Amino acid sequence: MLLALSATAQLEQDSCGVVCRIGTEKQILLVITGHYSVDDNGYTENFDGVEKVLDVLKDKGVKGHFFPTGIALAQPKYEGSIRRIIADGHYLSGHSYGHLLLCDTNGRTLVTRDSVVNDLRLMEAQLERFGLAKTDYCIMMPPYETCNSETAGFYQDEGYELITPTWGLLTGQDWTRPESTHYYSADVIEKQLWQYERDHTLNGVILLIHAMDYPWRQPDDRPYNRLGEIIDKARSLGYEFVGMGTSKQ
Ligand SMILES: [Zn+2]
Repeated sequence: MLLALSATAQLEQDSCGVVCRIGTEKQILLVITGHYSVDDNGYTENFDGVEKVLDVLKDKGVKGHFFPTGIALAQPKYEGSIRRIIADGHYLSGHSYGHLLLCDTNGRTLVTRDSVVNDLRLMEAQLERFGLAKTDYCIMMPPYETCNSETAGFYQDEGYELITPTWGLLTGQDWTRPESTHYYSADVIEKQLWQYERDHTLNGVILLIHAMDYPWRQPDDRPYNRLGEIIDKARSLGYEFVGMGTSKQ
């Protein structure tokens, strides 16, 4: 399905062959991720914002691209939401099963090919539980949105095309904590988005939103609760939110 998009858009890939921008037109691709921390029953990491995000997308008539981890897909509490992602015509794939850290900050590989393939099989089993086939979900996002060429190759050799949020935007930084020196409030995140727009434009940007309730943030400090506002403002600036196809046509 990414290939279908590439017929009209000039996809930009990074040095690992990962799609990081969808072209130079006033088009934005919205990607949404969620994890699930099993150790604390989803207290710190979860997919709890998914219904709110789905409501906003429906209200605004925007197609999203959802990449929860396989562990999130496996949680009975999200079963209805996952079915709704498909029923509402969004794209659904995965973000690995267990959110593996593929490489360190120096780009050194931390996983083996076997561990990636085993993790993929678990993710695929979860997606297929919802009636999807490999052709429906063959575009995925690497865990932590980061890989090197070796680990990108592990996925590409398994028939996946990789996509990652456009570098330089802070919308995925809502995991930062208020007490930390590297805290990014939703206000700061949103301001930076529009500053980025003025400095660079948002043309072809792949915009990440976490559908996650980090417990150290108040609801209005969660970027997904500002998604409607972000969509409205981007549209008022002439941007269009584009879809790359649905998981089930
Ligand atoms: Zn992630």
